[in-house]
Amino acid sequence: MDTADRALVDGVLAGRLRPLAKAITLIESQREDHQARARRLLEALLPHTGGAMRIGISGVPGVGKSTFIEAFGLYLIEQGLRVAVLAVDPSSSLTGGSILGDKTRMELLSRDPAAFIRPSPAAGSLGGVAEKTREVMLTCEAAGFDAIVVETVGVGQSETAVAGMTDIFCLLQLPNAGDDLQAIKKGVVELADLIAINKADINPTAALAARAQMKTALHMLRPASPNWTVPVLTLSALEKDGVAAFWETVLRYRETMTASGEFAARRRRQAAAWMWELIDAGLRRRFRRHPRVKADLPGFAAAVEEGRTTPSAAALALLAHLQE
Ligand code: GDP
Repeated sequence: MDTADRALVDGVLAGRLRPLAKAITLIESQREDHQARARRLLEALLPHTGGAMRIGISGVPGVGKSTFIEAFGLYLIEQGLRVAVLAVDPSSSLTGGSILGDKTRMELLSRDPAAFIRPSPAAGSLGGVAEKTREVMLTCEAAGFDAIVVETVGVGQSETAVAGMTDIFCLLQLPNAGDDLQAIKKGVVELADLIAINKADINPTAALAARAQMKTALHMLRPASPNWTVPVLTLSALEKDGVAAFWETVLRYRETMTASGEFAARRRRQAAAWMWELIDAGLRRRFRRHPRVKADLPGFAAAVEEGRTTPSAAALALLAHLQE
């Protein structure tokens, strides 16, 4: 590693924001030489990671995620903690702006020196975006952040990706009848370790009814841990009501899961799954780049579509090229 990158590592480890931003730019870059430097940086930073509480936040657009994350972030800063906010938003390249790109979002938090807000990398595939977000998360941990909030827009597969990189996955819900059914249908309730009904200030009775309904629904799901019953809180992100209770619940979760060994086990599982994702992605890339695969793939695809050969025969023939 050259002296410039050494200085970058030292800057990140000292918790300075400029070197942190620079390191993240390298991680998110598509350039081969940047990628190589980013890999070396991450190797150097890895021994200093693992210290933060990794919190995933999901919910449909409009539920109040950014309002909540700002209130929550400012609350944590009041407690003397440093907070990083990252986002997984696979749609950012389509919409032309990431969910955190809008400057008016989390305005107070973004101005606070104890906070670091990073919009979603504008790379195409979810796999790519999630991979970068994981690496950015580790870099923030090495920089000494106590809490890392990973936000997802709540569409597509991004929830699974965020649940797969965080210690606790939290779902924000609206106090509307039927919102729980939508979330259950999407399978996102099964991922949740904590659920909060937001906008309780609008109609507290409706919020309590939504809470009771969600609790009933949760009874029908198989619990992910024998030691943890998914709590359903009510919240007003706008009035900052319930934010302290939310953090207390996160801490209780960490204590409980640490005592049972599940906290460390989840991280181990996530690290192994991440490795396999990278292996899968690497194999796919190698396969698609192979000159003979490139040459033969269109012909085989056409033959399969027209029923002249079977998918398995075509796959075997193409995969055999990798051994050449
Ligand atoms: P996001 O799309 O999930 O990030 O949602 P936003 O945080 O942008 O919030 C969407 C709208 O709901 C905004 O107009 C917020 O001011 C409003 N909102 C968010 N939280 C609350 C809340 O607790 N109570 C009320 N009454 N409005 C809220």
